[in-house]
Amino acid sequence: MADVIDRASERETLDRELALACQRQQRAHPAQSLLHCEACGGEIPEARRRALAGVRRCVDCQQSHELRAKVGAHGH
Ligand SMILES: [Zn+2]
Repeated sequence: MADVIDRASERETLDRELALACQRQQRAHPAQSLLHCEACGGEIPEARRRALAGVRRCVDCQQSHELRAKVGAHGH
């Protein structure tokens, strides 16, 4: 029984360390904006890339992505 608990807290520590390592890496390497939308391949305007660090979609795709995210569980 004690073994199970040990393993659970070990797992928790690992998760926490992983999350911290992730944050550190993001600080060292800020998210890079894409030149082209990852959804449709269209060019992302420079103004948008500057305004939003790490932007990956054009305005249209971002909007439909957010729309889908809101609909969420219903899918399609
Ligand atoms: Zn797009």
